[in-house]
Amino acid sequence: ATPTAVMVATGVGANNGVLIKGGDALERAQKIKYVIFDKTGTLTQGRATVTTAKVFTKMDRGEFLTLVASAEASSEHPLAKAVVEYARHFHFFDDPSLNPDGQSHSKESTGSGWLLDVSDFSALPGRGIQCFISGKQVGNRKLLNESGITIPDHVESFVVELEESARTGILVAYDDNLIGVMGIADPVKREAAVVVEGLLKMGVRPVMVTGDNWRTAHAVAREIGIQDVMADVMPAGKADAVRSFQKDGSIVAMVGDGINDSPALAAADVGMAIGAGTDIAIEAADYVLMRNSLEDVIIAIDLSRKTFARIR
Ligand code: ADP
Ligand code: MG
Repeated sequence: ATPTAVMVATGVGANNGVLIKGGDALERAQKIKYVIFDKTGTLTQGRATVTTAKVFTKMDRGEFLTLVASAEASSEHPLAKAVVEYARHFHFFDDPSLNPDGQSHSKESTGSGWLLDVSDFSALPGRGIQCFISGKQVGNRKLLNESGITIPDHVESFVVELEESARTGILVAYDDNLIGVMGIADPVKREAAVVVEGLLKMGVRPVMVTGDNWRTAHAVAREIGIQDVMADVMPAGKADAVRSFQKDGSIVAMVGDGINDSPALAAADVGMAIGAGTDIAIEAADYVLMRNSLEDVIIAIDLSRKTFARIR
């Protein structure tokens, strides 16, 4: 293509909110064979909502939620934000014992005074969190495994049921006991299934990569028609996933939104940061899809194919 054609294509992209960082990226996009999508926030809306909070001990429901929210309040993860939001709502609006007059304490509810003091907080990327509250350790599945706390069969099957219905289950451990489970839903983007179908028609293979568990990942993939799924991938493993698809010389695109995705965006032949994204993801990408619509992946490939078809 002539420099003019590249300039025109870049302009057409920009008008559609597809920012292309240079002619090389534009040229590579025509040959994309695999598009690897991050799940959370890329294929899904990234609007996690708690759908289930089940206590498996005699602990009071409000106490359980306050405990989990206090532990999660220091985490930036979308799951953590969903947990805190849910507990806040329960605390201020739904619990009759806390709110006997039925009035909403809207002023107070925006603060964090209801949360318990937390010490020694640590976030384990792609795995969860750990901390101490009142000298007792709080955490999720990893902590349970490390502490050798056994998960009773009825709890395990409760979690399996959540995961098979596309929810993410958070197991909550407190003071060496499993005390409850949170179920969190994050709906898929409305255009996801259509885009997957469109890519397949173009001869491009869609793949999902996620740090989430196998069952939830497969349930989400099934909803939108993706057949290739890599689940339980640690943040550093996403770049390895990209490389594994490049092995036979295939041109691989990666689409992601998060900090966790930036090494994979950089490793891909065509990295596409989607949505508001994080600065780090935008920095690592060759394309920025500003509108947060998956349709722009198709527009990007199409634009490249059309631009470079003219000179063949
Ligand atoms: P994704 O690749 O889909 O964006 P992540 O790698 O961010 O997912 O997280 C993977 C998994 O780690 C989550 O599905 C969850 O099980 C667990 N996890 C991560 N952060 C937290 C947290 N703050 N609280 C509980 N669980 C968490
Ligand atoms: Mg993500």
